[in-house]
Amino acid sequence: MATSQRPSPIAAGLAGRCPQCGKGNLFNGFLTLAPKCEACGLDFSFADSGDGPAVFVILFAGFVVVGLALGVEFLYQPPYWAHALLWGPLILLATLGPLRPFKGVLIALQYHHDAAEGRLDRGGGR
Ligand SMILES: [Zn+2]
Repeated sequence: MATSQRPSPIAAGLAGRCPQCGKGNLFNGFLTLAPKCEACGLDFSFADSGDGPAVFVILFAGFVVVGLALGVEFLYQPPYWAHALLWGPLILLATLGPLRPFKGVLIALQYHHDAAEGRLDRGGGR
């Protein structure tokens, strides 16, 4: 097969697939990257999303859950145990659920845009 088109980085990342071929698994575990793609052999050692996915997820989940908690408090004034019962599980779902897709998207975008740490390479250039 000749070189095929690359998949969309968003679609490949959300599905946890290889950003080059869109077929192999990007992840070995929940958030652990596979060493390389089992379909095309792309080495995933370039991938370093750092704290990026966690920051996005925490900001988004915090905005949603705190907004809901404030709304419920102002409307119904439930006891504190009801708040703990509602928002404890919801914050776990809202943070752990999107963490893997977010990490996949950030790594796929990193590959798509050939992003890497800054280098002091003064030779030639493109
Ligand atoms: Zn691949």
